[in-house]
Amino acid sequence: MAEEPSSSGRLFLITGPSGVGKGTLVTALLERHPEIWLSISATTRSPRSGEVEGTSYFFLNRADFDAKVSQGGLLEWAEFAGNCYGTPREPVEAQLQAGRPVLLEIELEGARQVRRSFPSGFQIFIKPPSFEELERRIRGRGTDSEEAIVRRLERARVELQAESEFDAVIVNGDLTVALQQLEQLMGLG
Ligand code: ADP
Ligand code: 5GP
Repeated sequence: MAEEPSSSGRLFLITGPSGVGKGTLVTALLERHPEIWLSISATTRSPRSGEVEGTSYFFLNRADFDAKVSQGGLLEWAEFAGNCYGTPREPVEAQLQAGRPVLLEIELEGARQVRRSFPSGFQIFIKPPSFEELERRIRGRGTDSEEAIVRRLERARVELQAESEFDAVIVNGDLTVALQQLEQLMGLG
């Protein structure tokens, strides 16, 4: 586990069930606030159409991912719906040291690990207006196989029970409202 840095950089973390709109919110946030540094995760998942190596994710095979884990190169990692995901440690620590706001967009188990290593970080849970709307969004996105959708929805039921662990909760109903709430919580006005 990482030592908490003494720098002025603040660590923000967003989590929430797959399909709730985390990626959409983060993209909109970064367009308006380019000073925020978004961590790019490593994953063993295959790229979706349009995803770019080093921008969307660092796409690794399982052996390379496991090597990163055993070298201590990941700040946290977790398995999600059959694939591994993790946050490269060094760039996060460097950006925090440089005083930049750092944003992680990761799932629940990883959020719990980060809570232990960065207790002063601010963790936000994004939830859907309803489970039916979550299912509509994940299907409407059209990027996942039926098997992946089923696994993600099963996991969503577990994740949605964890909202009370978080510093703040945003319901992503109207995207503009949710974005405003996110900006407010992050002190971006
Ligand atoms: P996540 O990153 O949480 O898995 P995405 O950002 O990929 O979710 O969003 C899933 C789908 O829901 C996308 O098709 C996206 O356009 C749509 N979506 C996101 N936010 C909203 C919203 N507030 N209202 C309606 N649809 C939304
Ligand atoms: P997706 O396959 O839809 O891109 O991501 C699946 C889930 O993995 C999402 O909930 C996303 O937030 C999470 N995720 C992405 N990167 C990381 C990471 O570095 N660590 C962890 N623990 N979860 C991640």
